[in-house]
Amino acid sequence: GIVVVGSLNMDLVVRVARHPVPGETLLGSDYESYFGGKGANQAVAAQRMGGKVRMIGRVGNDGFGERIKTHLKAQGINVNATICINAPTGVAFISVDKAGQNVIIVSPGANSRLKPENLSPIEFEHTAVVMLQLEVPLDTVRRAARIGRESGARVILNAAPALPLSPADLALFDILVVNESEAQAYSGLAVDSPESGIEAARKLRQHCPTVIVTLGAQGAVWASAEGEGYQSAFEVRAVDTTAAGDAFMGALAVSLSEGRSLERAIRLGAAAGALAVTRPGAQTSLPTRLEVEAFLSE
Ligand code: ADP
Repeated sequence: GIVVVGSLNMDLVVRVARHPVPGETLLGSDYESYFGGKGANQAVAAQRMGGKVRMIGRVGNDGFGERIKTHLKAQGINVNATICINAPTGVAFISVDKAGQNVIIVSPGANSRLKPENLSPIEFEHTAVVMLQLEVPLDTVRRAARIGRESGARVILNAAPALPLSPADLALFDILVVNESEAQAYSGLAVDSPESGIEAARKLRQHCPTVIVTLGAQGAVWASAEGEGYQSAFEVRAVDTTAAGDAFMGALAVSLSEGRSLERAIRLGAAAGALAVTRPGAQTSLPTRLEVEAFLSE
């Protein structure tokens, strides 16, 4: 199976004619709420791709927490280790103006209370892949990586959002996945093409054995002990690029947990990412395994 240790959020979205300036009060639309957090999004992405998923995290006792757990459970995700605590659920406050520009404030809340000592090795037994992001405390991510390795799992870090990680940190993971801006932040190189992506991947491979750089509509590149490669993007009509990276991660993790090669796993990831950009929203846009297989055989 797959274990995700990561964030769970409620995204609260209000539409406005324009964003307010400091000190100003504006009226917006009715708010809409969406399930989010990179951890939860990637757990759902992997589950839709046919993975057996366990989600480890923290939510609050404010109503949102129970809603999130119920929602994940209904999709078939094991949330026994996602615990409601006495803190507010992580929330992203998002305002969207007429031009579609977002202003976002994230309040990590309960996610920031997931401590290293909350992780128990029993939860990582019989796990092929551990999937991590950087929306819970870094010490917790480090311990999850160590436990994952000790239990024989492959440990994948989607190093988002970009945080200062040391070479020793990067060495804790088997596979590092970054998008253009993260690749740039971690490598110090300008990344805007497959050529510069592979340069960044090579540089980061000094610390982490396998590095994948996703490049949006330019596909993805990777560098590993077995070699290097380029996966072009599948051509689609993009309507909303939100969660492309999460779809990619879910498909990658499931494919690797099934014992497929890195190259095959990245191809499946790229197909899942392409389908996700053809639909609006985050979790709502994540494709199923059947949809991805059908898309690949078109
Ligand atoms: P993130 O959402 O983390 O920034 P990317 O935008 O790099 O991640 O997207 C992840 C993957 O999804 C890409 O490597 C690519 O294969 C696919 N993808 C993203 N945007 C598009 C697009 N416009 N058309 C086709 N595929 C896309």
